[in-house]
Amino acid sequence: MHMIDIITKKRDGLTLSKEEISYLIQQYTKGNIPDYQMSAFLMATYFNQMNDEEATYLALAMRDSGDSIDLSSIPGVKVDKHSTGGVGDKVTLILGPLLASLGVKFAKMSGRGLGHTGGTIDKLESIPGYQVEIKVEDFIKQVQHIGIAIVGQSGDVAPADKKLYALRDVTATVDVIPLIASSIMSKKLASGADAIVLDVKVGHGAFMKTEEEAVKLATLMVEIGRLAGKKMTAILTGMDEPLGHKIGNGLEVYEAIETLHGKGPKDLVEVTVEIGAHLLIDAKLEIDFDIAKKKLYQALNDGSAFNKFVELVKAQGGDVDVLYHPEKLLTHQLVHVLAEKEGYIMDINALDIGKAAMRLGAGRETKEDQVLLDVGLDLHKKIGDYVKKGDCLATLYVRDKGIHEAKQLILNAITIGSEKKAITLIKKTIK
Ligand code: URA
Repeated sequence: MHMIDIITKKRDGLTLSKEEISYLIQQYTKGNIPDYQMSAFLMATYFNQMNDEEATYLALAMRDSGDSIDLSSIPGVKVDKHSTGGVGDKVTLILGPLLASLGVKFAKMSGRGLGHTGGTIDKLESIPGYQVEIKVEDFIKQVQHIGIAIVGQSGDVAPADKKLYALRDVTATVDVIPLIASSIMSKKLASGADAIVLDVKVGHGAFMKTEEEAVKLATLMVEIGRLAGKKMTAILTGMDEPLGHKIGNGLEVYEAIETLHGKGPKDLVEVTVEIGAHLLIDAKLEIDFDIAKKKLYQALNDGSAFNKFVELVKAQGGDVDVLYHPEKLLTHQLVHVLAEKEGYIMDINALDIGKAAMRLGAGRETKEDQVLLDVGLDLHKKIGDYVKKGDCLATLYVRDKGIHEAKQLILNAITIGSEKKAITLIKKTIK
């Protein structure tokens, strides 16, 4: 087989075989295909796309380029969730303990944040002592023992995807739906769960800006997972405004704790319970969607979800004292952003709000940046709220970085006008 023939086929809009895609990925991972040829292939794919079978073969080849986690020694159905990335998305921090408190096995490998979106691992590291690097054997033992572990990616999961993603990033080929779907699914398939819910975000704070694009991505990921033998669901949720109120690592843990005490913001609770109900059913612990939801609300309200979070943090070496005093997670230097006019909040540009948190130090501009764990912002208003001039729109938790810029970004992100708008959070479910 020759790379030039594979590039030619894709350039001419022909379909690649499983063998050709395996060759492409294996040889690229070994360093036998140079970046200039792979770049030409990626650009040909940008223009001519891939069909579902090709995208599935690509996901499987990338999964097989590295380690896969074998969770079969844990009894029962193991579940996982993935979000395509948004602002204020702390669902995993709540969903994991919530499901584990109801007997579901939640074995989760999460990532760090990059750009305007945060990452679960950075958020958990705001809890002093919390260990994210855990050996696979210990990760499995912990799930067997307490039903939950949330760790960073261990071993060498999908190295082909790492290499390819870096190349896509510099060749303007990131936003190609089959490449995104196979990239995400290669890592999900390697992490060993039996049932996966994908939360595909749509809106200006998300990768997918339109519902049409989001449906295409979600449908393809569901298909790839199904063909690989997984129980799959995707939900499309709005990222028209940040999820919940708090953005920033320690702040998001703070809001997760409030939610685990049954006092979470409506939108955050709604998304968490929706995903949870699908997974409770997939785990065969419930058959009726509405009863599943009721059980989840109850576990948030009766303290069992919070208690499971305490167990998780203890098991991973974290200081549980901060879970009872979450204000310790935050800096004490506050700056208030005030409304400059009266009216309804008509839009909150999640992308700019995410950037504001990043400027304060809560996020990374490049992979090498260090994040500040105790900074961020608390948005006091949501779309549809009415504000008077001088009302506090947001409180910034700051150190000495990016305060002026963050304030400007927030003021520009929030549109105040005369119309009371309502938004739909859960837009579609794809099975
Ligand atoms: N996230 C991924 O993991 N891969 C992509 O291609 C895009 C987003």
